[in-house]
Amino acid sequence: MGLLLDILKEVPLSAVLREQVKTADKENERLKQRVEELEREVQELRARVSAPDQCPICRSGNLKVISVRPHPQFGIFGHQEQTLKCDNPSCGRAVAIRHKTT
Ligand SMILES: [Zn+2]
Repeated sequence: MGLLLDILKEVPLSAVLREQVKTADKENERLKQRVEELEREVQELRARVSAPDQCPICRSGNLKVISVRPHPQFGIFGHQEQTLKCDNPSCGRAVAIRHKTT
């Protein structure tokens, strides 16, 4: 290590800085490529995740709340039972969900 430091003392500072800049540029380029890869991955994952009101069965209709009532078991704790129906006529499925009111 002593020898290396002795050599570095002989090298003009600008040469050392040029090497550091080159190394930083390479790292910067590598990170830019990684960010691009991750952005593509995020886009793909976003496309796969359905919107919160999208029907999980047909994936083309949207769920609309068609009725709200106190939940049969948990109504005394402020929970509601919401019935949601798919607006796609070829699907039309309905699901009931428990919803905590604030
Ligand atoms: Zn549906």
